[in-house]
Amino acid sequence: MSKRSDAGDTTCPYRRTGYSPEPRVWRLESLTAREKEVFLLLGTGQGNRELARELGIAERTVKAHIANIVAKLGERTRTQAAIVSALAHGSLCTDPMCSRRLGQIPRQRRAPSVA
Ligand SMILES: [Zn+2]
Repeated sequence: MSKRSDAGDTTCPYRRTGYSPEPRVWRLESLTAREKEVFLLLGTGQGNRELARELGIAERTVKAHIANIVAKLGERTRTQAAIVSALAHGSLCTDPMCSRRLGQIPRQRRAPSVA
């Protein structure tokens, strides 16, 4: 174990590593309507069998959708796509009761006004 992990470093890993999954959210426009539906469900962390049940389609069809989504977003794995899905939820979810929609969150943070 390194000293770093012993210390429990919780400084921002996005800043520290320069790696952030958020820019890939911008590639979502390449997805079809059905792929967006599958993509949104992917962010729940459920397996293909559960997603197939939720969508009322075969598991192999879910796998095909996810393979297309992973490719279109430029990801390597299903898990990477699921992370992007969770981050993009606010911009994709259309449920008015959803607490994570962008409309529920202030779009701009304004600096305190200096008089
Ligand atoms: Zn939602």
